[in-house]
Amino acid sequence: MKFISVPAPLVYAGAGSSSALMQAIGNFGHQRVLVVTDKMLVELGLVKQVTASLAEQGIDTVIYDGVLPDPDFGQVNAGIASCKQNRCDAVLAIGGGSALDAAKVIAICSGSDQEPANIVGYFNVKSRGLPIYCVPTTAGTGSEATMVSVVTDAQAETKCFIVDPKLVPDAVALDADLMLKLPAPITAATGMDALTHAIESALSREASEDTLRKSLAAARIIFQNLESAVADGGNRSAREAMALASYYAGSAFTIANVGYVHGMAHQLGALCHLPHGLANALFLPHVLDFYRDTCAPQMARISKSAGIGSANDSDDILAEKLVERVKELSQAIGIPTHADVLKPDQVATIAARAMKESHGLYGYPVPKYMRGEECEAIVRKILP
Ligand code: NAD
Repeated sequence: MKFISVPAPLVYAGAGSSSALMQAIGNFGHQRVLVVTDKMLVELGLVKQVTASLAEQGIDTVIYDGVLPDPDFGQVNAGIASCKQNRCDAVLAIGGGSALDAAKVIAICSGSDQEPANIVGYFNVKSRGLPIYCVPTTAGTGSEATMVSVVTDAQAETKCFIVDPKLVPDAVALDADLMLKLPAPITAATGMDALTHAIESALSREASEDTLRKSLAAARIIFQNLESAVADGGNRSAREAMALASYYAGSAFTIANVGYVHGMAHQLGALCHLPHGLANALFLPHVLDFYRDTCAPQMARISKSAGIGSANDSDDILAEKLVERVKELSQAIGIPTHADVLKPDQVATIAARAMKESHGLYGYPVPKYMRGEECEAIVRKILP
């Protein structure tokens, strides 16, 4: 992935910035926009809040609210059918990573003759499709910045990855006002997803100066703000900081990639139906502990940037303190240490699939190689 050039979307940032994005959609001359979202966000009034100004500009909206957490091919295909039937000329995603990921594939396949199942994998998207605009309502996945969509194959209980620079949205709004009512457990889990992106991309062998700057900034901001955002969802400045950090982390990992935490979390999420952020949070301290003996300098860099430890600490101590700080943060925001739904007979499957994902052709540029039995031992640590 090293030599792929990934575009960046046009970004409107700050509380209320979704109005600026709606204005831009008007300026770009769209006539009818497919809004991809979920029923909860319609019920909460967030979809109306964002799209009201499109109607004022004379732009029609068609709502597709059939997205569920970890969207599957059926949901994506239903969105494509609605988009084509209504002759929409752009796609606007409002929601968490699930709505954004579904919308990115809907836009690609509605504006071209491509089918979602045929573009699974790396760099299989032939043409760009319809323009994609994203308004994230969680601060976690960073999907608004990435060239990735994750679609679940419900039958095989696996997550499929569609990775291509053509999936990067055209424009996004990081509007923290839409996150003020995000429930504390979802704030916590999605925030740990963003932290995992920040840390894994910082430890990646493919990190560049640019991605590292973004990864370190994201990790620092998250350590400083996630607890406040969870404790008081209405804390606007903590929400704004988290929205920005999630975007930075997404921009970093879409180039530098992620690592074993994601390799394991994807399997746990798909097999046991655990939210993605929570699955990442369960594995993060254990994988960091595994890295500690050989990756202390890279881990120390994250600690130093985030103000963890003191100036006299050695790299080994700073690496150890990073693991402790991750555990402390998880505990403070109510993240469990074990997965209640995980069964002992699923451990080997999760480990085998994690190794396959992490070590494949487009595997993760991890800083230390993990063997299958080491992976199994880590998965066993989160058994109830
Ligand atoms: P999500 O989109 O599944 O949303 C979780 C829940 O939060 C939903 O029930 C939703 O209705 C609710 N919600 C969202 N915003 C809300 C708000 N402002 N107020 C109240 N409720 C709100 O969760 P997510 O963690 O954002 O996304 C997870 C998905 O993203 C997974 O499928 C994962 O695989 C994928 N993902 C994609 C990328 C990428 O780069 N494309 C990266 C990481 C994860």
